[in-house]
Amino acid sequence: MPSTMRDDPDYRRLYYVRYADDFLLGFTGPKSEAEEIKQQLRDFLRDELKLELSEEKTLITHAISQAARFLGYQVVILQDDRKHTLRDSHGVKAACRSINGKIGLRIPKDVIEEKCKRYMRKGKARHRKELERVSDYEIIMTYQLEYRGIAQYYRLAYNMTQLGKLKWIMETSLTKTLASKHQIPVPKVYEKYGAKLVVEGKEYKGLRASIPRPDKEPLVASWGGISLQWDIKATLREQPPRLGANRSELERRLLAEFCELCGSDKDVEVHHVKAMRKLHEYPGRPKPAWVVRMIALKRKTLLLCKRCHEATEHGLPMTWPLISLEEIKARRKRTRSRY
Ligand SMILES: [Zn+2]
Repeated sequence: MPSTMRDDPDYRRLYYVRYADDFLLGFTGPKSEAEEIKQQLRDFLRDELKLELSEEKTLITHAISQAARFLGYQVVILQDDRKHTLRDSHGVKAACRSINGKIGLRIPKDVIEEKCKRYMRKGKARHRKELERVSDYEIIMTYQLEYRGIAQYYRLAYNMTQLGKLKWIMETSLTKTLASKHQIPVPKVYEKYGAKLVVEGKEYKGLRASIPRPDKEPLVASWGGISLQWDIKATLREQPPRLGANRSELERRLLAEFCELCGSDKDVEVHHVKAMRKLHEYPGRPKPAWVVRMIALKRKTLLLCKRCHEATEHGLPMTWPLISLEEIKARRKRTRSRY
């Protein structure tokens, strides 16, 4: 009981999706024709655009038995004869294999392993000595930003609950870091920092540290509260997250609380952007203001107000005045003397 006809020998279909210089073609038809398409693409790129197709990265995969890689995801054709839905056809209910032939996105196993490895030594979660000299607030914030970036990036993956393993390794590494810094056992860390987090009406167990501020709400950093619910309609806003950012000043910048483009202090939040390396890759095009600013500040994060954040997300022109680098430095200096 297949739910759609798929073995017609004359049936062909070609889908195309591109992001920057990465693209994926989905072809229904024989492999020999897929090879031909690849050859034509290679010729076109070379003759018309003077570009070389990377042989090593341009693979033809049989999507039912293998997964294709695209933007850090595995793209697969779903096959599960156990999943049925009742379909109403002219008043007659019939069971159909509901997911066969549909596209599924997965987090590759090696990506999870790779991310976990950064927090491990000899097969176990390790503490991060390099973080012991910063505040509890910044330690928790660092882990949360790293994890949140990955979890948000993989929201389209139907197996995103696999990130539970990474979360556990990271949490163990985080609590070990706090334990080592304060010379206390890990259970004490949970006693001291454990908190109930409520996010969008849902309760999560997490960790929390805060910094009191004069005449203002304290700054709070939390670990946890990120749903691993698959969201196929999610819009991805970020590049595949890369770890190991230099965040030694992040806390000070958060305390300063101003937009690093326009200087506004309204709704300022951390904008986590692609690795610096990527920022330099705007060949032949003028770099957008935010890219120039990030390069100048040598940061992978920018604190942005809502307006500037939305403009950078959607590539809109900024028609409002931006503050200078000197102004940013001066403001940071003022914060430094305040706290
Ligand atoms: Zn702004």
